[in-house]
Amino acid sequence: MSAQLPYYVGAHVSASGGVQNAPLNAKQIGANAFALFTKNQRRWEAKPLDAKTIASFKKNCAALNLKPEQILPHDSYLINLGHPEEEALEKSRTAFLDEMQRCEQLGLVYLNFHPGSHLRKISEAECLAKISESLNWAIAQTDSVVAVIENTAGQGSNLGFSFEQLATIIAGVEDKRRVGVCLDTCHMFAAGYDIRTPESCAEVFEQFEQIVGFQYLKGMHLNDSKGGLNSRLDRHHSLGQGEIGLEVFKFIMKDDRFRGIPMVLETIDETIWADEIQLLRQFSLQEALA
Ligand SMILES: [Zn+2]
Ligand SMILES: [Zn+2]
Repeated sequence: MSAQLPYYVGAHVSASGGVQNAPLNAKQIGANAFALFTKNQRRWEAKPLDAKTIASFKKNCAALNLKPEQILPHDSYLINLGHPEEEALEKSRTAFLDEMQRCEQLGLVYLNFHPGSHLRKISEAECLAKISESLNWAIAQTDSVVAVIENTAGQGSNLGFSFEQLATIIAGVEDKRRVGVCLDTCHMFAAGYDIRTPESCAEVFEQFEQIVGFQYLKGMHLNDSKGGLNSRLDRHHSLGQGEIGLEVFKFIMKDDRFRGIPMVLETIDETIWADEIQLLRQFSLQEALA
């Protein structure tokens, strides 16, 4: 067990001006975890990382004691690894491989991605199989980075909104050491998982354990939700200000199964990220005193 590991909490910080700025931005809000884009998330093309940027990123992370397992890079929003059309699928796979390679160049161990969508042109099962195939293809061409599947709100034709779908994608991946899961609390709630009370949290995370397994949990996105339960809306809110409330975050910060993985805020008001991080830390301290 990992009971001795700390809770790593932070936010998805800006990497503008270069990825080397992300750890500095994380430290400024008192974070000991962070997420970042290693390229512009709304463009297909990016210039390769140069040696100076890579060295500077590693130096800043080391100086601030932010280890690779505390960092959860996020891929581009354009990528759809389950795309129903061959040419578009190729484009997505190539871009995803590039993202994985960038992570490895930066010495990072995870790449968080949205599984994909069927665009109502193929069945769910076919789409999930394509996602697994895409992962096998990219994993075969890289050394070590773990592809971390993010659960979705199930908006539009996006898959990965149920634990069963996440398990199906994992089942199709040949090298299980190279695949993991990141649970976004807003997306869970919007997809129909009621995490508003300690009792319902215990139940939902037990379901996760049974269907996927905590050994695959490599990160968390800590967000409240503007949309209601099962709304299928991907609309984040600040902690305690949305439809979920604070109980789930208290639950997570007192549960050893969430230690040692990057847990990042993607909440809407970045001016209060430092306060939200402090609040989360207080929840874990309350446990120690109790
Ligand atoms: Zn995401
Ligand atoms: Zn997220």
